[in-house]
Amino acid sequence: MNETKDIDWWQKYKKDILDVGLDTECGTVVGLSEGLLEYKNIKGKHIPVRTKKDGALPQAAYDGCAARLCNYPELNEYVFKKQPKSWLCGVVEEAFIGHAANENIRRTGASGGILSAILIHLLESKEITGAVCMKTGNQNPWESEPFIAHSKEEILECAGSVYSATPMNTILSELENEDGPLAYIGLPDQIAAIRKLQRMDHPSVRNIKYVFGPYTGTQMSFEAIKSFLRSNGVRSEDKIKTLKYRAGEWPGHLQIELKDGRILQAEKFHYNYLIPFFITSSSLQIPDFTNELTDISVGDAWSPKYEEKRGGYSVVLARSEKGVKILKDMQLDKAITIENIPISEALDMHGHMLDFKKRGSFIRNNWKKVKPEYGYKPAKITDGRKFVEWCMRIFFGIGKLAVSRWIVEHIPLKIVGPCFNVLRKSWKSVSRPTKRKNLRTMEFIVS
Ligand SMILES: Cc1cc2nc3c(=O)[nH]c(=O)nc-3n(C[C@H](O)[C@H](O)[C@H](O)COP(=O)(O)OP(=O)(O)OC[C@H]3O[C@@H](n4cnc5c(N)ncnc54)[C@H](O)[C@@H]3O)c2cc1C
Repeated sequence: MNETKDIDWWQKYKKDILDVGLDTECGTVVGLSEGLLEYKNIKGKHIPVRTKKDGALPQAAYDGCAARLCNYPELNEYVFKKQPKSWLCGVVEEAFIGHAANENIRRTGASGGILSAILIHLLESKEITGAVCMKTGNQNPWESEPFIAHSKEEILECAGSVYSATPMNTILSELENEDGPLAYIGLPDQIAAIRKLQRMDHPSVRNIKYVFGPYTGTQMSFEAIKSFLRSNGVRSEDKIKTLKYRAGEWPGHLQIELKDGRILQAEKFHYNYLIPFFITSSSLQIPDFTNELTDISVGDAWSPKYEEKRGGYSVVLARSEKGVKILKDMQLDKAITIENIPISEALDMHGHMLDFKKRGSFIRNNWKKVKPEYGYKPAKITDGRKFVEWCMRIFFGIGKLAVSRWIVEHIPLKIVGPCFNVLRKSWKSVSRPTKRKNLRTMEFIVS
């Protein structure tokens, strides 16, 4: 008798992942549920629930999910045939700084427009027939959803970052019937699921030839946008005409155009005041900052040298041979302007966030009754660093309270934004010695 046939995979998913608070809202379980599941928004979180359709959840919907079991050493072996030199960033062949050569693409993108430029290059050179991206305003102006872009114009409509948690992998249900080859853009947990499914040779991902993605530090629930609206006297998201998380000159600002003609704006670093109040549990859980299982991953080039130049700069990690080839071809075609940098320079730009993920996530996950398994962990974390994490736990714990959210909504943005920025910078400089100490020489144990 085949034992797995008798397992109720939905009940197992609930027991192993959902009920123990490990679900990362990546969308895989719904996307592969054959219509048995849908998302319900409960207190800003996407929770999978049963639809009216009868039947058994396919095993792949459970096995493909990367929330609880995501063995990075095994996935590295499968994708790259090697293990990383540094577990801080995963396998990297070459690191670059750069931007799209075309000014329109560069300025439409979140940082340097590199991801959009890559998709356009692959589409125009007929390497792919479509690119799976995230689009805002397709059905509702405020809502983001996965979308298959088939033209340069559609790719540019999807450019920019979406900071509200949005399950990308719900689109897996459509991909089996989509002509390929495709490129797929996703966040680290979404990409890990894609790689798990490719390893299983699942039909939903067979047409995916290239996998790219942004660095991913923190993400918020859509409640953050609703709170921002309320603090501007707007009671409902239905009043939104357009929503851009990173409009204008790099690093960009949140921009919400309302149907009554008003435009609400908040500088990127001021809008970040909402992070402690609305950060998602997956941002706190997932230890992958640089999107380690992609062919190419891209982040903001946070360095005074590039920030002063303005215009938009990306830090780019080419992880696979095909990733390197794409970038070199594009450089020859003059589609991107890039220069090689040492990986150490790339890591130095994001020391704070690397610590947040490579030490912080492991400390936070240790507090959980059921812990996600990644197949590796830091060899040692000092008591000082654990103390810093406790301070953050208290801070985020207070932020989650309804009363804290209520208070912050009633303080004008021109006060709370700059105050938060000062607080953020002070906290960064106070915690910096502990957070940066030995970060680059950190040792990890592969289990
Ligand atoms: C939630 C989130 C957190 C991030 N945190 C950091 C950080 O801490 N530090 C840092 O340096 N960079 C971070 N980034 C990456 C940064 O914002 C840019 O996405 C990155 O620099 C690529 O810029 P680009 O101009 O090359 O991309 P673009 O040319 O703008 O292309 C971006 C592509 O990503 C897709 N996309 C956008 N949002 C999502 C999403 N939520 N899910 C799936 N696909 C999406 C778009 O559809 C588009 O195809 C984050 C991005 C996101 C989405």
